[in-house]
Amino acid sequence: MTNYPDTGLFIGGSWRTTADDLPVVNPANEQVIGRVACAAPQDLDDALEAASKGFGVWSRTAPRDRADVLRKAAALMRERQDEIARDITLEHGKPYRQARMEVIRGCEFLEWDAGEVVRAYGRVIPSGPGINYVVHQQPIGPVAAFSPWNFPMSQPARKVAGALAAGCSIILKPSEETPAGAMHIARAFADAGLPPGVLNAVFGVPSEISEYLIPHEAIRLVAFTGSTAVGRRLTGLAADNMTPVLMELGGHAPVIVCEDTDVRAAAASSAVRKMRNAGQVCTSPTRFFVHDSIFDEFLDVFTERAAAVVVGDGMEPGTEMGPLANDRRLAALAGFVADARAKGATVTTGGDRVGTSGYFFQPTVLAEVPGDARVMQEEPFGPLAAVNRVGSLDEAIECANSVPYGLAAYGFTNRADYVEQMVERVEAGNLSINTLEASVPETPFGGVKSSGYGREGGLEGLHNYMVVKNVSHSISIV
Ligand code: NAD
Repeated sequence: MTNYPDTGLFIGGSWRTTADDLPVVNPANEQVIGRVACAAPQDLDDALEAASKGFGVWSRTAPRDRADVLRKAAALMRERQDEIARDITLEHGKPYRQARMEVIRGCEFLEWDAGEVVRAYGRVIPSGPGINYVVHQQPIGPVAAFSPWNFPMSQPARKVAGALAAGCSIILKPSEETPAGAMHIARAFADAGLPPGVLNAVFGVPSEISEYLIPHEAIRLVAFTGSTAVGRRLTGLAADNMTPVLMELGGHAPVIVCEDTDVRAAAASSAVRKMRNAGQVCTSPTRFFVHDSIFDEFLDVFTERAAAVVVGDGMEPGTEMGPLANDRRLAALAGFVADARAKGATVTTGGDRVGTSGYFFQPTVLAEVPGDARVMQEEPFGPLAAVNRVGSLDEAIECANSVPYGLAAYGFTNRADYVEQMVERVEAGNLSINTLEASVPETPFGGVKSSGYGREGGLEGLHNYMVVKNVSHSISIV
């Protein structure tokens, strides 16, 4: 017995069970640990009605009072972090310590937006006598939000934070494979006194839910995090109603390692970062372009550190990397490695599944990977790094920009002129120099090219959930 909770639908402030449900599987042992309810069309209609009513109440609640509720919910989740982290580890597989860090990060998203929304100022535009122009920032309306399985708590928290801080209501459709993170968010908000209908959570068949909710006239914004293929589909659905979208899609992050850098430190920190969350992170550093003069040393240290990562059940103390989150990733990773091998890449460590029970895969490093290998174009979304040599910064930047993605990018150098080149020319929404942290709650996060558009986090993130209204007011002076 794991005491992992079953998850119902949260609609109009109460939980409901349904006739249909789906199993939730622990990826460390492939055991069914719980069930998640599946919404029928009537449940979705109820959620839409609840969100419309909730918006009426919440959009007229003062920003300061909204912020109080966000902060209370965050405080409750900080108190409950052990329980939430345990549920995340059971449903997702990540090490318990990383799950706790995720819970704290989710709380930080709520706290940042709570602090920022009271400063979502409009402006007064200079005008002639007898007329005033005032720009207001108003909540956009009920949001349909879809969050993925790689961060079961912090991903939904980011969307809930932006929407609720701005004064919107939200219908959240988290991943059915990892429902507990979102369930804990809904529970915390209910306990923090959020009015019914402001936050609703539904589960079911993802395509059926998105096709039902997105075209509905009540929905005023679609927010999605997931693959580019699904993002494209949802953007198309939204376009029919001219509904704006916020799309956080895949990435395939390049890392440019210049000849002047501290090679060993860059290699060791990159290998550890690569294996965080078993590489299932849209900002995960994956394509390494290392200057020829330091390539061998970088590859040796990177390989050694990656091979030393302790793989195991996330609930075991000492585990540094858990299983992959589902069997689809296991098949995908095996496919990337086989393809790269066949095309001439060298596997310096890993490359195979670990054991036969649980979705464990070895930390894997590929060297000298030809450009036509699939992994050089497609996001592996797993514990796999490709390390290639380049002769110059120009070549590295060209390689970095050679994929359709542009989410996160990294550089290691101490030369100001190299940094300047990267800032100007690397195609990415987030560029990090000498650090592998791509975003924090106070900075805007999002992509260019096929990595999506719109930003989450920072001041820009809040603006996605708001619309601008200009009011021209003529005043007759007597
Ligand atoms: P997928 O593309 O089927 O699903 C990705 C996410 O979208 C899941 O959470 C899923 O529930 C949801 N989804 C799928 N179809 C949907 C639909 N029609 N309407 C609404 N939501 C829908 O693939 P997957 O196997 O779950 O993940 C594979 C790829 O997705 C990964 O390789 C990675 O590139 C990408 N991904 C990206 C992120 C991210 O943080 N950007 C997170 C998870 C997955």
